[in-house]
Amino acid sequence: MSTSCSFLRVGLFGFVIMAQGLPLAAAEMNWKAGTARAVITPQKPLWMAGYGGRTAPADGKVHELYARVVALEDAAGHRGIIVATDLLGIPQGMYDDICVRLKQRHGLDRSQVMLNASHTHCGPVLKGALHDTYSVNEQQLRDIHEYSDLLITEIVDAVGEAIENMQPATVSRGMGSTDFAVNRRTNREPDVPTLREQNRLYGPVDHTVPVLAVNDASGKLKAVIFHYACHNTTLSFQKWCGDYAGFAQYALEAKHPGALALFCMGCGADQNPLPRRTIELCEQYGKKLATAVEAVLTQPLTPVNSKLEMRHSFVTLAMDPLPSIDQLDKMAAEQPSYSQRWASRLLKEIRAGKVHSRDYAFPIQAWRLGGDQLWIALGGEVVVDYVLRLKAEQGDQIWVSAYANDVMAYIPSKRVLLEGGYEGQSSMMVYGLPTERWSPDIEDRVIQGVIDVVKSLDR
Ligand SMILES: [Zn+2]
Repeated sequence: MSTSCSFLRVGLFGFVIMAQGLPLAAAEMNWKAGTARAVITPQKPLWMAGYGGRTAPADGKVHELYARVVALEDAAGHRGIIVATDLLGIPQGMYDDICVRLKQRHGLDRSQVMLNASHTHCGPVLKGALHDTYSVNEQQLRDIHEYSDLLITEIVDAVGEAIENMQPATVSRGMGSTDFAVNRRTNREPDVPTLREQNRLYGPVDHTVPVLAVNDASGKLKAVIFHYACHNTTLSFQKWCGDYAGFAQYALEAKHPGALALFCMGCGADQNPLPRRTIELCEQYGKKLATAVEAVLTQPLTPVNSKLEMRHSFVTLAMDPLPSIDQLDKMAAEQPSYSQRWASRLLKEIRAGKVHSRDYAFPIQAWRLGGDQLWIALGGEVVVDYVLRLKAEQGDQIWVSAYANDVMAYIPSKRVLLEGGYEGQSSMMVYGLPTERWSPDIEDRVIQGVIDVVKSLDR
């Protein structure tokens, strides 16, 4: 049966079912799905993640931050867990801890767990992340550790709850778009309103909004998972907030009471929501994204057969050498800043005999839903060139989540790395890795890693 016949059939069938409130036929109900969510808003005035220039902890909240979970199981019992968090990024140590505990508690391996971070810049600092960026004292550091440990427990418990409440479900997919993401490397922020008006914004972007819908036996929406490739940096104030993604999730959940809306960041490391810096703009972008998702949900969706294939791999990314000891000494003698703290810490470590590895184990995950929908999850802050290249090489239908599992640094393409600037180079110090730059072969290594993991789906 052709795809178009099949969604016409399910679309019409779905309509009749929703109108009559009858259960779906058994053949359509061969997925199982469960959902859960945990409030993860810090209860203490913790330091906020994302902008190095902050001088004080959070002093309030716009809305709650959440970890939202969908557990999916196909007809053969293959189980996959999607976690969407209103966080800047989950660092390697916490990713490892969560995976170990999910293995112990539920027998899940890394391929089955996809941890997404929205990259909101109004969320908490987590332990083991961005070591040198923030000027936090000992007590604040203890509070960060205490919160991070609690967060791990909350996520693991929410996964358990989602697994426990799995029920028969249908899964379908669609694709929308919205255009508020702007390439921030090629458009000056103050010029954006005029450039937009004149249709002169330029630089690569990915305005697609991939959508995965999970419906229960009565046809009611149970969860919607959606992507967008754009930094959650509309706001920079001192209040907890999920930024535009937070507002989008809230808007969709208000429209579909009882359903969960899960945001996954795409390859938006060089994309900003522009103009920005007011709560009104933030809410407006959230509504725009929710409207784009809603437009997909109201169209006939493509049904996803009950088949879930999942693979995971680490590929080794190489780092360029550290600056010389002389250069580090000079940087360490400068005024306090993240680069001064970075250089001082590395010097201390080197003088204590520590040898810094030049390799990083970068996580790549590939899911294939229904035998044909590829969903790649990459760690780090991945620039838009990656999704555009993967679409060109693997087909337009591919979905790419970035900021997934372990957010260790920016992941520039070769072009961005050679151009330099924040995403290409200087952000490495912000993240604290022992290098000023990835090796220029980073793009080839990541793309080859994706190709290999995708191929492994057939084994
Ligand atoms: Zn970022």
